Amino acid sequence: MKNKMLLSALTLMVMALTINPLDAAPKAKTRKSDVKNIILMIGDGMGAAHITQVMIDQKFAPLNMNRAMGGGMVTTYSKNNRVTDSAAAATAFATGQKTNNSKLSVDPDNNPMTTIIELAERAGYATGVVATSALVHATPAAFYAHAKKRYDSDTIAAQLLPSGIDVAFGAGKGNFDARKDGRDLLAEARNAGYTVVDSIHKLDDVHSGKAIVAYPTGRNHLPMMLKGRGDYLPQATAKALELLKSCSRKGMFLMVEGSLIDYGGHGNSEKDIVAETRDFDNAVGVAMDFADQNPGTLVIILADHETGGMTIVSNNADFTESESGVKTRFSTGSHSAVMVPLLTYGTGYERVGGILDNTEIHDKICELLGLE
Ligand SMILES: [Zn+2]
Repeated sequence: MKNKMLLSALTLMVMALTINPLDAAPKAKTRKSDVKNIILMIGDGMGAAHITQVMIDQKFAPLNMNRAMGGGMVTTYSKNNRVTDSAAAATAFATGQKTNNSKLSVDPDNNPMTTIIELAERAGYATGVVATSALVHATPAAFYAHAKKRYDSDTIAAQLLPSGIDVAFGAGKGNFDARKDGRDLLAEARNAGYTVVDSIHKLDDVHSGKAIVAYPTGRNHLPMMLKGRGDYLPQATAKALELLKSCSRKGMFLMVEGSLIDYGGHGNSEKDIVAETRDFDNAVGVAMDFADQNPGTLVIILADHETGGMTIVSNNADFTESESGVKTRFSTGSHSAVMVPLLTYGTGYERVGGILDNTEIHDKICELLGLE
């Protein structure tokens, strides 16, 4: 009897194998479970020309981005505009859904859409955001907050702690402790067990646990690189990774934004674009080094959109001649609709590539971390 049952069980298994040819297919190079840490690095407004400008500036000496192992291109259009803003673009990364420009992780009818940070927290991952902008600015905000209007900074700030986020480094302390409703959200964070400081260097002796850095810039961003920001972004990236590693054994999701590349683009300022993109690239190097030292880490580098309609052309339109210099040209003081570069590095780099829609970046991250 036992033998008969065993035999029919075996027969069923053989049938199952025969019926589903996928079972016999060779295994993918990387299993889902191989990736436990994802660092999503967003150069706000960083198109291919912005990166090229840095390359030209340093005579084509390699950037950290040159270490990338894979990549592709990302489409950026929003629900109601072929030219996205940062809010709709970050919503696509954070929720996997397109929305209208100016909305943050809500649909066009203002219904909240679950973000990667909310999903990752529920699944036991450590989560964080690092930006050179105010913490309530569109890109970081879309990952932890929901708002009908991107500039509703009081509403956005109040959602930072409830999101469960472990690490948040950026500017705009005033959004948290100089509020219309009189709440001091930073005092509330301290009571909830966060280390709260107003400069990244004040975390030099802190090596574990949750932390918030909110620079005393009123409601505004950190200064531009050319106005003396220093090495905040690479330092903040390294500290965020160190702290997140201490917060969960399961793994982490960290979003790092080079927020002010976009300001260089809006200002059509070649010098600001070079300084801001290079600073972002230094942070990319920190993330890549972390991936080298921590197998299971995937670094995804991309932009939310291109800003400036920037291009670099030869001074001499006759390209049969040798070059007589190049010049940078901008076609707009706003964003453009062109696709943006995507670069990947580390474990599972080959799983995120080709031409992807911005919503698919979210889907890939969820698939790799097993988030539902
Ligand atoms: Zn943007």
